[in-house]
Amino acid sequence: MHLSKFHFASIFALLPILMMLPPARAQKSPILITADLTDVPRKLYHADVDLPVTSGPLTLTTPQWIPGTHMPAGPVSNITGLVFTANGQTLSWRRDDVDLYEFHLDIPQGVTTLHAHLDCIVTMRVSQKLAAFEWEALLLYPAHTPVRDIPIQPSLKVPAGWGVGTALTPVSSGSWPVPAAGATTQFGVTNVEQLQDSPVLTGQYFREFPLADTIKPQHFIDVASDNPDDCNLRPAVLVATANLVREADALYASHHYHVYHFLLTLSDVAGGGGLEHGQSSDNGVGEKGYADEGHTVANADLLPHEFTHSWNGKYRRPDGLYQSDFATPQHGALLWVYEGMTQYLGNVLAARSGFETQAQYRDHLASSAARLDNTPGRDWRSTEDTAIAASVLRSGGAWYNWRRGQDYYQEGELLWLDADTLIRKMTSNKKSLDDFEKIFLARGGNTGPMIVPYKFDELVEDLNAVVPFDWATFLHDRIDNINPHADLAGIEQGGYKLVYQDKPSATQRISAGMRVLRSGGLDSWYSIGLRVGADGMISDVRWGGPADKARVAPGEKIIAANGQIFSSDALRSAIRAAKGTTEPIHMIIQADSFVSMADIDYHDGERYPVLQRVDGTPAYLDDITRSLTTLEKTPSEPKNEDQ
Ligand SMILES: [Zn+2]
Repeated sequence: MHLSKFHFASIFALLPILMMLPPARAQKSPILITADLTDVPRKLYHADVDLPVTSGPLTLTTPQWIPGTHMPAGPVSNITGLVFTANGQTLSWRRDDVDLYEFHLDIPQGVTTLHAHLDCIVTMRVSQKLAAFEWEALLLYPAHTPVRDIPIQPSLKVPAGWGVGTALTPVSSGSWPVPAAGATTQFGVTNVEQLQDSPVLTGQYFREFPLADTIKPQHFIDVASDNPDDCNLRPAVLVATANLVREADALYASHHYHVYHFLLTLSDVAGGGGLEHGQSSDNGVGEKGYADEGHTVANADLLPHEFTHSWNGKYRRPDGLYQSDFATPQHGALLWVYEGMTQYLGNVLAARSGFETQAQYRDHLASSAARLDNTPGRDWRSTEDTAIAASVLRSGGAWYNWRRGQDYYQEGELLWLDADTLIRKMTSNKKSLDDFEKIFLARGGNTGPMIVPYKFDELVEDLNAVVPFDWATFLHDRIDNINPHADLAGIEQGGYKLVYQDKPSATQRISAGMRVLRSGGLDSWYSIGLRVGADGMISDVRWGGPADKARVAPGEKIIAANGQIFSSDALRSAIRAAKGTTEPIHMIIQADSFVSMADIDYHDGERYPVLQRVDGTPAYLDDITRSLTTLEKTPSEPKNEDQ
């Protein structure tokens, strides 16, 4: 019997009973795991695991489908040095022939504890000075058992002098958050599901900052950096993060954690992005990722997005994305809620908290909307299909726009903006999607970390509870159908329209979506239909666009434009010169070791997306991005122009 098998109404009828029960199988003795991270600079993790066992056949497994990654990304291929011992004897094992994550053993008579030692070769989220450690790298536990039913007690060793940030609760005495040299920190007993959801940040240059101390439970941001000074976050960033805690508290009117830790790495080598967890999030940006306003704006939605996932994705999870073990494939169909609504709320919270201004929010939105509206792959593939196929669509590359990627993120953003502005329109701005969030994400009130699955019908019911409408058709039309154009209704109902101008906005120049521009390349996606680096390399060509019609392909290199050796400026001049004429842009193109000519027949000049205010209409978009709370300010913080 499992929560995911219930309709939500049944779940909530049971909730008070479930929450009074002791943790499942609490009487069973826990697995003991000690993660040794002292070899982080050499990119190795080690673990010793003691498993309670009985004699007979035993199948152990490592995690395969990692929550939040929406793909079978468990690091089994990097596990090495696996040795099982019991009562001083080495036990032989055999990998399963089909499920390569499983190990079969035969436990001898009289053995009650099985010891395993394993190492994991680490390929990401580590540097010489820090690690963002996810427990799936070292987890080993009985297969075919719900992971929330397997008790486990974790311990941790880190290099001497390194600090530790985690939502796990230390039970051993000693200094914290910087354990004494050589010390092993023991944490309270939890279960395998929760442990996988509780990463550890450790680093030599480490700071932990409490946030918004009037909001309970407690929130912290833990920062580790490769350079000694970078972990001292700027006051403006700490203020924005504290404001985020206040704004989320006001928006979601609930919490589903005992404590929350933003774990943040600042490193050019450890990689990054974000991975959500219930009581923490693993966030990584470059060394200078929040060092100035430009970088902060480029990363504006990272912390708000991952924080929002504690509600939308961790607490509320689509039925098919929640599996009781990490072996059963996850179903991506509702990722336009899990990720898409989080994309929307993350950007809204970034503006409400002051990570970016309302104008910067609109510039980001213009970029997303224009990209989707100029994605020819939407002629054959629905948003729902990008979600169902999520686990094979992460990587980009050539013809990405024709294949499509994980577009449910930004498709979802436009969809939920559409829903938000529609609710405001139908209720004369008296209600909004905020009211929906207070129902959908706060159902059950304040709780500890737990997962409450939902199905499509619950979304419809909860939207109807805000304002009656044919929400099922609204959602189906936008998600399941082939829609050659992006859903721009939310922008228009919000009092703006998507237009193209001949210069990129300041935000577009510095934001992550415009990396090509920052690297000295040229984003001519909306003009001649290609993205080109500073060296002339073409990273992608817009299917059906002018460059495509001239038979130009991704991976080729522009040698010259209109008789001039390639530079971004030379190509830009050529695009400008062709405006309003009939003369094509003449390019010399290198493909592998061959050179050829390409004539691009394009005459509309440079085009970059921006949102333009439509006078005389309600500016709901500005209402949406206005803070709900009184923001804390710092002198160095940029003014939020519309507030
Ligand atoms: Zn996400």
